[in-house]
Amino acid sequence: TDACLTAIEGAGALNAFVHHTSERARDMARAADQRLKSGDATPMTGIPVGVKDVFCVEGVPGQAASRILQGFTPEYESTVTRNLWDAGAVMLGKLNMDEFAMGSANESSCYGPAVNPWKVDGRQLTPGGSSGGSAAAVAADLCLAATGTDTGGSIRQPAAFTGTVGLKPTYGRVSRWGVIAYASSLDQAGPMTKTVRDAAIMLGAMASVDPQDSTSADHPVPDYESALTGDIRGKRIGIPREYRVDGMPSEIDALWQKGADMLRDAGAEVVEISLPHTKYALPAYYVIAPAEASSNLARYDGVRYGHRAKLGAGDGITEMYEKTRAEGFGPEVQRRVMIGTYVLSAGFYDAYYNRARKVRALIKRDFDQAFADGIDAILAPTTPSAAFALGSLDQSDPVQAYLNDVFTVTLNLAGLPGISVPVGLDSQGLPLGLQLIGRPFEEGDLLNHALVLE
Ligand code: GLN
Repeated sequence: TDACLTAIEGAGALNAFVHHTSERARDMARAADQRLKSGDATPMTGIPVGVKDVFCVEGVPGQAASRILQGFTPEYESTVTRNLWDAGAVMLGKLNMDEFAMGSANESSCYGPAVNPWKVDGRQLTPGGSSGGSAAAVAADLCLAATGTDTGGSIRQPAAFTGTVGLKPTYGRVSRWGVIAYASSLDQAGPMTKTVRDAAIMLGAMASVDPQDSTSADHPVPDYESALTGDIRGKRIGIPREYRVDGMPSEIDALWQKGADMLRDAGAEVVEISLPHTKYALPAYYVIAPAEASSNLARYDGVRYGHRAKLGAGDGITEMYEKTRAEGFGPEVQRRVMIGTYVLSAGFYDAYYNRARKVRALIKRDFDQAFADGIDAILAPTTPSAAFALGSLDQSDPVQAYLNDVFTVTLNLAGLPGISVPVGLDSQGLPLGLQLIGRPFEEGDLLNHALVLE
């Protein structure tokens, strides 16, 4: 913990930690020490972790990197962080992210962007998003692990951009209680770590059956670490042909091939499969996620939480809502609220939202079919490129940013677990990740496949 606190002090330029809890960390580390001595430790006891700013931690300011939650200090604890503290983990502070977890570059944060510790020619690169602070902190050794959330790729994409491991669990595996909501039917918290083994250990501590989250699944949490045998002989790995998108860089293709070879060398059978509705995933996601976001974000009204705009004489409640939301939400969040309310409006509901829900069911069916055909895990790239330069996204063309999520959103729509593992470097020496997608609630098996790629 002391080493991490020192490293954090020297790494302000990464803008990874946005709130420090150093005193609390020292107290927690001392308590962990006692626990280790008394023989009642877990594998997480004394492990210093960072927490994405989207998790409510009692008594610690939290604002999901949004101005609208300025001054908000939660009076309750998220189940994930409660579970981590119960296991003896040590909290170092809150980590930077995209505002309300909307983004792929950590550039929509009210704290400014987090910076990737990897550099090319001194150029600053994005650590990815939305869990960019988490990924940067793990990659720069500011913490041993961090929490992230993944609605459409926000754990896996930043893991790929920083050479770290990111696991998005099955929907319902980890409680969403106390996690500030973006798109409730897609959001899932997970571990961001340096190794697959660490991810197995941390997932075991984060996951639980939670009556406070009605979508929390009633499955006992297994010992994920004991699943890590490295033996995948006889397993069947699917290579989905629809993920070979137009204009895919040859480096990504070569990486994908390398991953397939690694799995084959370990005794798995690698076969081509088809997930025919893949090309509709991105448009369906960018209807469903904003629709749910517009509904979830309706609660920020200037009355209940955080920021309230200064009002002029004669301003009534409508002006208070309008001014507060116009000042409090950044441009990307406002765009999502506009899209969401549009696709949910009476005149367009059937054309957009309902259509997207049907597409979502077809995407899930594609995966169900592959698993029913005996596929154990699906291998695909995590991202279409390595980390790009900060500030290089064209702000007038949001679709350019959305295209980063082409490989990651599919499994959120289907509720499946996925893990990104660093597998190689591109020609500039930047990390690239591959993603494995597994059967629901079989994270142990998924992690075991991932171990072979490490
Ligand atoms: N980039 C995607 C989005 O902006 C995914 C974000 C996430 O997973 N939280 O919606």
